[in-house]
Amino acid sequence: MRYVSTRGRAPALEFEDVLLTGLAVDGGLYVPESWPRLSAAELSRLAGAPYAELAVRLIGPYVGAAIAEGALADMVAEAYAGFDHRAVAPLRQLDGSRWLLELFHGPTLAFKDCALQLVARLFDHFLARRGDRVTVIGATSGDTGSAAIEACRDRDSMMLFIFHPEGRVSEVQRRQMTTVVAANVHNVAIQGNFDDCQTLVKGLFADAAFRAATRLAAVNSINWARVMAQVVYYVYAALALGGPARAVAFAVPTGNFGNAYAGFAAQRMGLPVRQLVVATNRNDVLARFFAEGTYRPEPVVPSMSPSMDIQRASNFERLLFELTGRDGDEVAALMASLDQSGAFTTTSAALTEARALFTTRCIDEAETMATIARTHAETGTLVDPHTAVGIAAGSAAGVAAETPLVCLATAHPAKFPEAVVRATGLKPSLPAQFADLFEREERYDVLTNDLEEVKAYVRERI
Ligand SMILES: *Cc1c(COP(=O)(O)O)cnc(C)c1O
Repeated sequence: MRYVSTRGRAPALEFEDVLLTGLAVDGGLYVPESWPRLSAAELSRLAGAPYAELAVRLIGPYVGAAIAEGALADMVAEAYAGFDHRAVAPLRQLDGSRWLLELFHGPTLAFKDCALQLVARLFDHFLARRGDRVTVIGATSGDTGSAAIEACRDRDSMMLFIFHPEGRVSEVQRRQMTTVVAANVHNVAIQGNFDDCQTLVKGLFADAAFRAATRLAAVNSINWARVMAQVVYYVYAALALGGPARAVAFAVPTGNFGNAYAGFAAQRMGLPVRQLVVATNRNDVLARFFAEGTYRPEPVVPSMSPSMDIQRASNFERLLFELTGRDGDEVAALMASLDQSGAFTTTSAALTEARALFTTRCIDEAETMATIARTHAETGTLVDPHTAVGIAAGSAAGVAAETPLVCLATAHPAKFPEAVVRATGLKPSLPAQFADLFEREERYDVLTNDLEEVKAYVRERI
């Protein structure tokens, strides 16, 4: 499989280079040159397959000949062996037509483990073969950071720098990152918000000399391999609920649009998806886009679902590429307009196509709280605020009653205990491996939102 840039001006690359490169040199994101498709008969045969087996089948075409099938199967098996539920991504039925897809059984209790546990192993595989080392950098609104750290820690092939917005991640999230003792891990708190952190990471990549000297690599959701790994649980859930004969709807708590875009990819691969509900908190840039066709980021407002406090959803560019009929020049022009005038507007044809699959709902803080309380009262299940945004949006999106609605549970409730306590009076308990999290010593540095300062910091440490 070859990959092309969404802006059409970077060389097409093979999987190994796309994995290790992250952002394309023209500023675009890599996407597969064509979508591998599974027939309905083949999807039917995969129903009931264990998660790891399904993953190998779905990921195989994207990796191509770059990794022998046996080696890929070993990596996948290892990636999911550490999950604390045998099903990896179990479904929990909420009522007659709604399910929770629990994506938080990995080592850091958020769905990002589903992709990063595998992506780190893929990095290690190729780097070891090349005898190479890279500097992995990532911006995090909370969950990516700890998931990347758990996935990459103590691997000789990579040095890791994770930037989080100071004071804007939950204490559990921060401690999951800053209490890891590993020589290859550096935590940095940036005096700014998540978008600032993301802009800094882009700035590091944009400096070609710095990028080459430090051998920069990214594990942010711009990395294609993450999207690829996330396709698996969409297919897994749909097959468990009667797919491919029956189409399923998904409600996706959305920030950077990586998860929702993986649902789109699953549909392109042949999975019958009735509807993808893009659930946002009050940072509603995507909801406004789907309503008006204009993408205009506003300043980020902090919310109780911090991993979704995002106004520049980087993976949205991948969807734009499809909506423009894979026209790299047009995507480049739209993104230039976004940089220059703070907005872009798509054609009405593109908007109509987007609305055929995507619905959006913006859920405010009060509705998020009410949903945590109601879900607990009605089903006995505690959900975290991100998951609650998804449940509220999915339930309001007008999905037909005969269509199963799968709400993606993106974090364990104990990761965001304050909101859960306020909504229900109950404190969700952390799994046993985190019992002493609040006693462990933290290690991190604080830097101002200044690209040159950040560059100097990284240079000094590698
Ligand atoms: C990262 C994250 C999201 C947002 O996912 P995107 O792929 O960035 O849209 C939602 N919920 C939780 C708990 C997350 O960690």
